Amino acid sequence: MENNNKTLSFSESVNYMVDRAINVLEIDTGIASALKACNATIKVSFPVEINGKIEVFTGWRAVHSDHRLPSKGGIRFAPYVDEDEVEALAALMTYKCAIVDVPFGGSKGGLLIDPRKYTRDDMQRITRRFARELVRKGFLSPATNVPAPDMGTGEREMAWIADTYKHLHPEDINTLGCVTGKPVAHGGIRGRTEATGRGVVYVIREFFRNPDDVINAGLKPGLGGKRIVVQGLGNVGYHAAKLLDEEDDCLIIAILERDGILVNEEGINVENVRQHINEHKTIKGFPEATFSENAAAGLEIECDILIPAAMEAQITGKNADNINTKLIVEAANGPVTFEADDILRNRGVTILPDAFVNAGGVTVSYFEWVRNLSHIRFGRMERRHDELRGARLLQALETMTGKTPENWMQDELVYGADELDLVRSGLDDTMRNSYQQLKEVMDNNDKVTDYRTASYVVAINKIVRSYIDIGVY
Ligand code: NAD
Repeated sequence: MENNNKTLSFSESVNYMVDRAINVLEIDTGIASALKACNATIKVSFPVEINGKIEVFTGWRAVHSDHRLPSKGGIRFAPYVDEDEVEALAALMTYKCAIVDVPFGGSKGGLLIDPRKYTRDDMQRITRRFARELVRKGFLSPATNVPAPDMGTGEREMAWIADTYKHLHPEDINTLGCVTGKPVAHGGIRGRTEATGRGVVYVIREFFRNPDDVINAGLKPGLGGKRIVVQGLGNVGYHAAKLLDEEDDCLIIAILERDGILVNEEGINVENVRQHINEHKTIKGFPEATFSENAAAGLEIECDILIPAAMEAQITGKNADNINTKLIVEAANGPVTFEADDILRNRGVTILPDAFVNAGGVTVSYFEWVRNLSHIRFGRMERRHDELRGARLLQALETMTGKTPENWMQDELVYGADELDLVRSGLDDTMRNSYQQLKEVMDNNDKVTDYRTASYVVAINKIVRSYIDIGVY
């Protein structure tokens, strides 16, 4: 798929947006350039034998910043990835980690490949070979550079990468921490797969907990009943849309996918669509909504909330004037280009920006990395103790009041949190705190009128602070 943005490259687009925050903060131009520069990028090309023939694959890994280590960021497998894209995404990772107080630098990787064209065995050999190249060149280790899943990659690829690293460094006691997003049975953490989508929903919920912000965006308070359009029903889009559909009583009125669009004003059952895709490999033929082929036009459907969750440069200078929503929640990285961002801001459309909105993935990746380094599952030590304390409290309550609490109260009292509860709680806390940090910047600085600039102000302040503390400049 091509990047529609012909005017600015992805990294220029990100840098222009960052410049707004730099101007607000009146940072010295030298420091500003240092902030924006990508520290190092490697390009690797390697041969793999596929069906008796040699094919050469090309990939990149960019480290935007290493003011905190390890540098962190996904690896995507896609047929259009390039160096500029990887560097832009690495920069977003730096800002993202700073916004949500995850103590990592920013990195990103990409492999030029269409995974759908290869068998599982081919993908395993290609992934392992790519991982070997990254390890050998110092771009993959638990201490310095830790990848995660992104478009076209998931648990499976992360498990192969971890295993490759382990074979190259069997003496490293922290091998499992070399990559996050692994299957739970191989050192992963419960709740990582859903984390980015769930984080998107936690942000939306926090936004709606602030009625003034909702009214400023031109929306009526209350998330229930809001009409939502989602682009991309992959990892991020699916989990976000499913929660909004099932837990928040929202109406998912349209789902845009690669091969078309589903529309139903009454609301679409997201889980049913997912099952249909699993079975038929397409959204076409889904019986509970109207299908049409022009997916891009779906972005212009009138709705309360638009959630682009597919890929970058979907809302550009060309279609920004036709976007008909009050609130855009950037679940994908870079879905709104710099030109489009300008147009939309002038039109009064509120945008909750990618660097904050989709940071749930890296937040839970951080939890996974900590879990790998501590070699113990979260909740293992305290769960039964908490249950026991709850049971004693219940007993005391009964003795003091002479009454037996209702069953649900008993269940709540004697419950000890497991790993998934703790991960979700940590994620929710992180997204809420970060939202309040953005809000504080907007409330206290007249020059900051949009959430994107606020998020970069928050990030840059923290990064510059850490540069000052460690004396980088
Ligand atoms: P994915 O590959 O699981 O899903 C992407 C989905 O978008 C797929 O269903 C695909 O068919 C669909 N799609 C692709 N092009 C489309 C188009 N033009 N129109 C409509 N649908 C289209 O990827 P993902 O992991 O869900 O990532 C999606 C976005 O979120 C990317 O921008 C990624 O960088 C970002 N992101 C992902 C994570 C993560 O944890 N997976 C974390 C942070 C950010």
